Amino acid sequence: GKGKWKEFDSRDLLISYNALKVLEARYLLKDPNTLRYIETPQMMFRRVARHIANVEKLYGKDEKQVKEIEDKLYEMMSNLKFIPNTPALMNSGTRLGILSACFVIPVRDAMSTPNGDGIYDALRAMALVHQQGGGTGFDFSELRPKGDIVASTAGVASGPVSFMRIFDVSTDVVKQGGKRRGANMGVMHAWHADVQDFIRAKTGELRDTHLQNFNISVGVYDYFMNAVERGEAVPLINPRKTRIPGKDWDYYMTNARGYMHDESVQEYILKELEEKGGSVYLDESRIITVDEALVIAEKENAIVQWVNARQLFDEIVKGAWDSGDPGLLFIDEINRRHPVWYIGKINATNPCGEEPLLPWESCNLGSISLEKFVVEKDGKMSIDWDGLVEAIKYGVRFLDNVIDANRYPLKQIEEATKKTRKVGLGVMGLARMLIKLGIPYDSVDALYISYQLAKFIYYHALKTSIDLAKEKGSFPAYDPYYYHDIWESARDFGSLLEVSNIKDKPSDYVKKLTEVVDRLDFSLLKEERIKFGLRNSTVVSVAPTGTISIIAGTSSSIEPLFALAFVRNVAVGKFIEIDPLFLEYLRKYELDDPEVVQKIAETGTVAENPFIPRTMKKLFRTAHEVPPEYHVLHQAMWQQWNDSGTSKTINLKSEEPPETVEKVYMLAWKLGIKGVTVYRDRSKSQQVIYFGIKK
Ligand code: ADP
Repeated sequence: GKGKWKEFDSRDLLISYNALKVLEARYLLKDPNTLRYIETPQMMFRRVARHIANVEKLYGKDEKQVKEIEDKLYEMMSNLKFIPNTPALMNSGTRLGILSACFVIPVRDAMSTPNGDGIYDALRAMALVHQQGGGTGFDFSELRPKGDIVASTAGVASGPVSFMRIFDVSTDVVKQGGKRRGANMGVMHAWHADVQDFIRAKTGELRDTHLQNFNISVGVYDYFMNAVERGEAVPLINPRKTRIPGKDWDYYMTNARGYMHDESVQEYILKELEEKGGSVYLDESRIITVDEALVIAEKENAIVQWVNARQLFDEIVKGAWDSGDPGLLFIDEINRRHPVWYIGKINATNPCGEEPLLPWESCNLGSISLEKFVVEKDGKMSIDWDGLVEAIKYGVRFLDNVIDANRYPLKQIEEATKKTRKVGLGVMGLARMLIKLGIPYDSVDALYISYQLAKFIYYHALKTSIDLAKEKGSFPAYDPYYYHDIWESARDFGSLLEVSNIKDKPSDYVKKLTEVVDRLDFSLLKEERIKFGLRNSTVVSVAPTGTISIIAGTSSSIEPLFALAFVRNVAVGKFIEIDPLFLEYLRKYELDDPEVVQKIAETGTVAENPFIPRTMKKLFRTAHEVPPEYHVLHQAMWQQWNDSGTSKTINLKSEEPPETVEKVYMLAWKLGIKGVTVYRDRSKSQQVIYFGIKK
């Protein structure tokens, strides 16, 4: 009908040229015989909204109620206020059934096991997930080290790093529905005997050739970081030789005491450990200390070598400086702030780090475009908090429905996912929101906005999940008592600034702008949670939004603008982009002269440009011009109010020395971030985005 066409016409005008290119290349459905497009962007959003809203029928909603929800979900997407992760857009309502982006697959020290979690079982699981557009993470720390014995064949083990190469090649071969290559996270914990090989697996001569489909991260613990600071030695362990391979050593290294909140919880852990056979590492009344565990490891001959933690750390830093890998995962912090810590220990994350997950868990993501919630009020820019609440409410409902709409490739994944029902509502467009508010990214005001927004979004996401529990029930692994309210351990804004020695205070302007956040009462929410339950064990997550931010026409995730003008290299071709907000400013100052624009496009920045006014230079500082500590601090702000992870790239200038990487990694640990990655400009031959049009 006529109304229908009107919808298509007006909404599709919001889609930028670049967004359309991406949608065309990967997302819009084609007729398999003629290869002609059979949908427009609006039809795609409708397809997704309908598929996801249909789940409501399982919970007894009638046609009319389902349609109302469908319309809400459609509205959010078509206005580009909320976009779900790529697999949900690509696969909803099609033959392919995976709608989630994030998976963690266990790898036990065996070729194959009856439980389906040996090395080659993991390989198969990975291929099935990649085939449909998901990303996978693995912890390889349980594998026996290189050169160790293999009893069944009297042979010699190849070690985890060799096995990783098979996963890498398989990733190359299995293109995702012909649309994109898969992505992986490979983790090894700092105590593993092969950790030095692992650290070097992608650097130096191997930089542009090895493990190209992997991000790699070293799993570090507080004991390790403390040893780095003090220059102490740490043991490298052969996990095969601990009593239950991998398991016991692992329990101790987690520093379980770190995430025990009170005595009754300690009791619970003790009971669990006993039942699972971990009691060898307990004395009468408590979990043993690091020193005590070492005595046991020594008795078992599990210690292969002692190395200086400082040296190991320097190697990690050197590698990251040279090639971007390895990053760090802070395993203690991850487990300390894992809301359902009582059902297992997390050892790995998905490829970009925003989802620390238990073995076999998956998570689906979706992000709100923050810039859409900047409104003009009485001639001043402000934030549309009510609009934000609405987007959060339907965003969380959307993501929760995805868990039921998913067709899982393996039953282990389905079971683990439905047990905890993790979802990750995130954000994009922070940089552009800040510009619209007139606040430079590298300022205390911007950090304050990040902090307050994260708190607000987390509060309302949690509230929505409680409301959904009233309606549909809690996640099966929910335990009202053992569930850990991570907001109780969120650090306050001032103390985060103190860690980094920044003396400025937030202005009255941003305090006023966000005062609604100060009125939120988390303790009331806790009462409600205990009374009514909780639908999802995690509710928020900050994803990189690599593709969906292009679709939404905004800056990615919580990152600063990457460049004011640049060439974007993606699988389907090259795109030239000039930031439209920036163009608007140029016009405002009557600087939109072709010669000036050309000049800016050549470098991507205005830092050195004599024609550009100072305020504008400050506002449009790009990713490499923002001082590294502001990158880390923004990540820390968002992590405080986040029950899963915060993905962020700490972008560095090409000329930054290795010491900068070291400082960034240390600061990240001290700020309680769960994982950190740096990227020094031009440290890889293949870079997704290049500055400047001429390059
Ligand atoms: P998008 O914008 O496409 O929805 P993001 O850039 O936010 O995705 O990435 C979110 C997660 O999606 C990643 O951490 C990873 O788990 C998964 N992912 C991203 N790109 C790929 C890829 N090429 N192959 C497999 N998984 C991917």
